Order: sequence, then structure tokens, then C-alpha cells
Amino acid sequence: MTADRWPRYAIYKLMADVGDEHPTYFHDKMLRPGQTLADALPEWEESGRAALERKRGVVLPKFELTVEEYPKPRTWACSWFAHWTFRCDEIPDAGAALASFQDYVWEVEREFPPELASVEAVRKPGYVCLMGAEDRWRWRGAEDDGGSREAPCDCEHCEEAGLWQINH
Ligand SMILES: [Zn+2]
Repeated sequence: MTADRWPRYAIYKLMADVGDEHPTYFHDKMLRPGQTLADALPEWEESGRAALERKRGVVLPKFELTVEEYPKPRTWACSWFAHWTFRCDEIPDAGAALASFQDYVWEVEREFPPELASVEAVRKPGYVCLMGAEDRWRWRGAEDDGGSREAPCDCEHCEEAGLWQINH
């Protein structure tokens, strides 16, 4: 199976200059089908600022968002020790979500071989970090009272949001 049976979306790296010494990084974003970058930007800016202000408990005097498109569209976007994608016709169920995620991981590993990882390689534009997703045994859903759900996450939150999420 090739990775081309899965839909691909433009992925964006978001950074904000809020007056600190270094820019603040946000989780990668991707456009929903039919959404344009111009539509998405105000939404990303507002949610990014709100999240950071909530976390710091201050009103930020400055918030300048920089958006960089990764050179290659992908099926899955990276967030903090998790990846997510949209539920869609090609990925209607858990089995398809796992298969497409495995294809995504193999594709990224081929392009960025872990054995060649170095400080320079990681800093190259377009570098994709898998954050531990290389190890399939780490894949799981959200934590709840009984422990971890299985991957992909089947909680109400993911379902309502129309997303597949795999934590790792
Ligand atoms: Zn979930």
C-alpha cells in the first residue's frame, strides 16, 4: 500500500513573537477541506493568543503570528506527543486511521531517517518530528479513569470535533 490512498492537507508551522527572547511555537495546523489560509489565519491567531494568555494569566501586549507552510502536504499533523487528522470518506473508521497513520510514520522515517538525526538536520526547514510515534507500542487514545483508551482515540471530544487522534 502506498501513502497516496490517503488525503493530504497543507500543514503549517505556527510561531508567535510575543516579546520574549525566543518565538513561541504552536502545534502544527492544517486547513480543513475547502478552507483557505486567509479564512483560517484570524481563527488561528485568536485561538493561539487566547491559549497563551490563559496559560500565562496575562494579556499579551504583543502577538505577531508567523506561519510557515511545510514543503509537503501530509495526512497527519503533529501536536504535543500526539498526531491528528480529519475523519473523512477515506478514513472512516479506526482501522483506516491506524493504517494511514502507519503509512505516514513510515513516509516521514524514510524522508528523515532517525539514524541521521542531528541538531543541524532538525533545524532544517520542513523537518518533521514524530515525537515518539515511531514506536507503535506507544500509540494510545486519551487517558481516562480506567487508564488509556486504545488508538485511535474514541472519546466524545474527538468524535464531536470530527478528528482522529493518536497520542504517543
Ligand atoms: Zn479523544
